[in-house]
Amino acid sequence: MSQSKENPNEKSEPAAALCNIDSPPGGGLFGDDHLTVNFLFYALNEHAIVSMADVKGRITYVNEKFINISGYSQDELIGQNHRTLKSSEHSDEFYKEMWRTIARGKPWSGEIKNLTKSGRPYWVLATIIPFLGDGYKPVQYLSIRTDITQAKATAALRQQQRSFDLIKDEVYMFWPDTLQFFYANKVAREHSGLEGEDISSLKSTYLAKNMDEAEFCERLSQLESGQIESVVYRQENSRRDGSSYPAEVTIQLVRPGDDAPRYFAVVGDITQRQESERAKSQFLATISHELRTPLHGVLGMAGLFETTDLDDEQKIYADTIISSGKELEGLIEDLLNFSKIEAGDVKITPSNFALDDLTSELEGYFSALASKKGLKLEIITDPDLPEYIYGDKNKIAQIVNNFISNAIKFTDVGGVQVNLTRTSRNGEKHLKITVSDTGIGISDEMKLRIFNSFQQVDMTSTRRFGGCGLGLAICRSLVEILDGEISMTSKLGVGSEFSVIVPIEH
Ligand code: ADP
Repeated sequence: MSQSKENPNEKSEPAAALCNIDSPPGGGLFGDDHLTVNFLFYALNEHAIVSMADVKGRITYVNEKFINISGYSQDELIGQNHRTLKSSEHSDEFYKEMWRTIARGKPWSGEIKNLTKSGRPYWVLATIIPFLGDGYKPVQYLSIRTDITQAKATAALRQQQRSFDLIKDEVYMFWPDTLQFFYANKVAREHSGLEGEDISSLKSTYLAKNMDEAEFCERLSQLESGQIESVVYRQENSRRDGSSYPAEVTIQLVRPGDDAPRYFAVVGDITQRQESERAKSQFLATISHELRTPLHGVLGMAGLFETTDLDDEQKIYADTIISSGKELEGLIEDLLNFSKIEAGDVKITPSNFALDDLTSELEGYFSALASKKGLKLEIITDPDLPEYIYGDKNKIAQIVNNFISNAIKFTDVGGVQVNLTRTSRNGEKHLKITVSDTGIGISDEMKLRIFNSFQQVDMTSTRRFGGCGLGLAICRSLVEILDGEISMTSKLGVGSEFSVIVPIEH
């Protein structure tokens, strides 16, 4: 059976098979019937994906278009069941209904999703015609298909785009390699002033008002490597009428199966959300402030009580009141700090300070706590660092305090090491403080969320270890305020390392 293009004047096997069909009632074939049939078959092969199968569905003939679209060779297809191409798109009932129809000698027509040899899906509009033999029973099936993959994709995209045009947020899509837009919904086109214009003339860096292209690409590369699931940032956006609004931009990398990956960006007006966030922060600030006042009374009195003449049992009670009160004080401090940061009430207050002061404060604060757990606490300062640095000592201390207190909290054996080194970032001098521990470590899944507020590895750890999952969220916000960088590496069961980099010069 030849797979080369059929010469309409030559008789081929399938054409001969067709010749067995009686001429349709009321009209015969014109001229030389065989030549006409050959010519029709030639035309059919040129236009459509054609195959023939026996009554069991085993392929007996495929044309060149069939071979091209399926990716299989002729030898791989002949003798195989049509099921070889089946995708999981259709139900069993779909195929049963198709077989019931053709087995009754009736043609069947419908859209089918098949899979190529490499697993890529393609859609065809298929018509299956049974050849009837004795007793009008099918003896063979002829299938004629048209590739409708592109048409279906275009229709689906149009439908999708019509829905996106009804969304109030701006929706953009752009390509990872060129960063060029290929889609913007109605609101996006209105806001960017690009109605009716070619959106691809605009690059997606347009979405980042406060980042240069290098930083924007760096954030996107974290999406590509799977380090993060979405890039989210806030900025002030302006509309074409000159008005401005606070916007949140969310960018995700979408890999639509058989199609090229693309970035999907949604830009939303968050005026209302910011107002409710402000109200929530105000409430948190007030409530934590109000809780702090009576708690100080309790702690002060418990402190005095502890100095009175107490027996051993009473001393344990007083100690418990004080340690629980201190824990509560820490939580309230976290809430207060968090709400202040959220309300934008935290400002940088830099000064020249001695690094030694910072390290001895850390030592004084944590060495007893570490040795109580049998852990070794080491603080090592690189001699390359200047004696005095210019920065916001309280905020740096607050960040490192949180790292160390977590390191001690989540380590049972080994120790905690704090390293202060000199580093440079964007050509400027920075201080890097790294806190490493030999503790329980953090899972890959948690690493993605660890700097978000109210997140703990095990949400029941609040009860086991205390804390409310705000410490690292506060650290991240403080680092942003200080124009620094925060990072973490960790291995489950081995330990974790948290680092902060902050500028140390005017
Ligand atoms: P919390 O005040 O509850 O400790 P954090 O934001 O400081 O909140 O930490 C969030 C969570 O991250 C912790 O509850 C813990 O599950 C995990 N974590 C933080 N630091 C470490 C560490 N050094 N080792 C293991 N897990 C840690």
